[in-house]
Amino acid sequence: MKEYILLAVTIASLLLAFAAINASRRQKEALKQENYALHLRIEDMEEVICPNGAHHWVKVGSYSFCPCGVESWTNVYQYRCSRCRKRIESGLPFPPRTEDRRTKPHE
Ligand SMILES: [Zn+2]
Repeated sequence: MKEYILLAVTIASLLLAFAAINASRRQKEALKQENYALHLRIEDMEEVICPNGAHHWVKVGSYSFCPCGVESWTNVYQYRCSRCRKRIESGLPFPPRTEDRRTKPHE
C-alpha cells in the first residue's frame, strides 16, 4: 500500500513538472513571436524614417510592365532620396510627399 502511495506521489510530481515545462515552452514561443513582430516593426520604421530628417525624393527612372498579360501597361516610377539614397518605386508620376511617410504607395 505504501508503495502505491509513493508511486502516485511520484507520478503526480512528474505530471506537475511536465506541465511546468510545457508552460515555459509556450511562454518562450510567445516571446519569440513577440520578438519577431518587434523586429519586423523596427525594419518597417527604418524603411519609413529617413536618417536625415525627411526623405527628399528625386525621380531617377521609370518603366512600364504588363501585370496581367493583356495589353494594359502600368507605369512604375523610380525615386531615390537625395539624402539617404533609399530607393522606392511608385505608381505616382510625382514624388511622394514627405508627410505621406509611406515609402511604397502602390502596396
Ligand atoms: Zn531619405
